[in-house]
Parts: sequence; C-alpha cells; structure tokens
Amino acid sequence: MIKVSELLKNEIHPLIHGALISRIIVSNDDKYFAAVSSYQKSTKLDEDEFDFDLYTDKYVDTLNELTNTKTWISLDSYNRHFRFCNFSFRGKEKAIFIIDNDLNISKDSFYNQLYAKLFNECEYIQEDSLNEQKKNFIRGFCELRGSIDTNRPLLAMDYFYDSIFELGKARLLNEYFSVPYYIININFRDLQNDFVNSINRRNTQLRLQLNWYVNNIGLINDYKTKIIEKVYHIYGNGKIGAINYISMPTIESRGSNLFIQRLSHFSTKIFGKVLSEKDIEKLRNELGFNIETQEIDVVKRNKDIVELVRLFTPDVCAGCQNEFELDNRTFVHRRTGRPYFEIHHNISFANKIELDHEDNLVKLCPVCHTCIKSGVGMPNDQKHIIENILISRPHVKDFASHFFNTNQNHELINNIYRSLR
Ligand SMILES: [Zn+2]
Repeated sequence: MIKVSELLKNEIHPLIHGALISRIIVSNDDKYFAAVSSYQKSTKLDEDEFDFDLYTDKYVDTLNELTNTKTWISLDSYNRHFRFCNFSFRGKEKAIFIIDNDLNISKDSFYNQLYAKLFNECEYIQEDSLNEQKKNFIRGFCELRGSIDTNRPLLAMDYFYDSIFELGKARLLNEYFSVPYYIININFRDLQNDFVNSINRRNTQLRLQLNWYVNNIGLINDYKTKIIEKVYHIYGNGKIGAINYISMPTIESRGSNLFIQRLSHFSTKIFGKVLSEKDIEKLRNELGFNIETQEIDVVKRNKDIVELVRLFTPDVCAGCQNEFELDNRTFVHRRTGRPYFEIHHNISFANKIELDHEDNLVKLCPVCHTCIKSGVGMPNDQKHIIENILISRPHVKDFASHFFNTNQNHELINNIYRSLR
C-alpha cells in the first residue's frame, strides 16, 4: 500500500492525481484515503451482451496498467484483504486505490498539497495543447466516477460542495486542461426546479458533452463504451492502447452557461454586484468571447479573470489603502477616466505559470506593485505590503491559507514573500 508521504514526495501519475483532485474518500478512522472508481449496472444492457461482473477484474487490471502500479484493487479484494482500513463502501465501488495516511493529515490538507503540487511540479499543465498527461488527468477526474447519461449524450458526475475549491475544479478543467468552455455544464441544484420544489433533491452535477469527451479523451471502461454503442448513434470506434475512442455526431452547441454562471459568481459573490443582461453582453464583447463558437481564444484564456478583477473591484490599493492618499500614488488613466492600477498575483510560482484565480488577484497602485517586485523594495516594506493585502482582502488570505496549508499570519507572509517574482 502506498503512503501519503511517498505519494506527495514523488511524481504522481496524472490519472491518479486527477482522481484525487476530483474526490478523496476518507476511512472511518481517518487513517486511510482512497481514490475510487464507481459505476453501476445499466438497464440498457442485457447479461448476454456484456458480462458485467466478469469485467471488474479486467477493469482493475487496466487501471493498474495505465498508471504503472499494482495498487488498484477490486471491492472483492478489498473485502478479503483490506477490511481493516475501515471504509464505508456500499457496493458500486469497482476499483479502489488505497493510500495510507502515515502523515496523519486532514483531507483538506491532503487536497491542498495535491493542488499545490499540480501547479508547482507538473510541467504538462503549462502547455496549451491537450497532451497525453492532461488526458490522463481528465480520465482520472471525469471518467472514474462519471456515468453515461442515457437520455442525453452527457458524461455526468455528482459535485460536492465540501471545499472552497469545488467551483474552481470545473474551471481547472477549462483553464489548465484545455477542455473547451462550451462542453462543460454545471447543473446547479439550487437552480433545478425539482430541487427547489423538493421533488427530487439531486446533487449538483458537473456534466461534459459526451461526443467531445469520447472523441478527444476516450474511455477506459469497456462497459461504459458498450452502453454508448447501444444507446447512441455512433459513426465508428477504435481502441488505441487501453483507450476506447468513439466518433459520434456533434451536439448542437446551445452554449454552456458556465461563462454566465462564472460571471454571476464573480459579480455577486466576489464583487457584490448583480449583472444585467446588458452588462453580460458588453463583457462578452469586451473579453473577446465568441458568441458563435462559445470559445475563448486559448492564448487569452485567463485574460477575462484579470479583466474582471480590474473592472469590478473597487479602485483602492490592497497594499496601502489605509496609509496613503491615492492621488499621491497613481494617476487618472485618460482612456478609462479611472485611477490607474496594476493587477498583482498574490502567490507566484517558481515556474512560468500564473494562478489566475480571482482569489489570487489584487489591485495595487503602481508604487506598491513596483516595490513588491522581487529584489526591488526593502524586505520589510515588501512584507508590510503583503500583510496589508491579507488584512484588506480576506478571500485572498483564505485562498493563500488553503494553498500554504497554514493559518499563521507570519508563516503566510513569509511563504508569499519567498514566492515574489
Ligand atoms: Zn499601494
């Protein structure tokens, strides 16, 4: 059995990384973590069309082969040899990857360290292309617990709101894993009529358009592949290595509402402003959001977030708002008629990548921004600016606390100070 300490120290296979970022299962006594692949028997396939039970072992073998391990086991094997781990499995778990929590850390801490590792060490996410490592991450993230919707061509998975990163997870797929906006859809339960009327309290679901998924990412699971072949019209399919690729008709893109949801999320939760349809339309145009294809140019994939922060956060400097008159620190920009600010990343990484998350971006006056550049201002002045940012922007502090896994102010300030570029 692999230990948490080994997993975090060494390179993690992208598929396992993706599975854990998607969902971490914790044993009843917190001594073990697990990544789990669950799926259920479908009424769409008869026993003579596919031997459901016999397939399990082959599926587990395939996962081990793909991830170069022997750690994945079946539920049968778990029940025979690993019951002492004390998980509450309910029967639909088909492949289980158990991790010994030798560091005795919380699930949140484990998650945060996996997340930090993704940005600090995994160079594959810096490439714009949908490379094989990204595909494996997506397989771990989406397919392992995603199910084939047999009514509409979607790959759907339940979405759990147990950490502040939950909404960010869907954006992770888009912003760093080259999954286009228009194929991602979040079905917020609060917006579902059935939920509001207490008819069917389903979980919120994250859903991906199936035709894009099976054509670009493919499926590991032969059973899920068989369901698609049975239920949907397909043009063709083929296996490359262990992966089943399927070509099926393109879904008429009615446009993911993710972009709108995202704007609403930013504007209400972060900026306290409810957007009108006119505002959204204006933003779409300003941000170069192509209404025809519903796609944002890959090159400027994150420009919208930086722009949203620039547009919607109050015109005050997060570094010195209570200490200096703004007039003495910046000038009024001729084009916008607003004071000029620069957008600063609170946490920077050693590599090139910038974490454009709204909770990692702050507005600074040009004086503070210049001072805080690595090697420019005096260390104490730089630390003072960082401290002011954390005090004046609680959501930025919250994000950094999760990221560095500490709530201690001086530790946070030192960590951020060391990451300055
Ligand atoms: Zn300032």
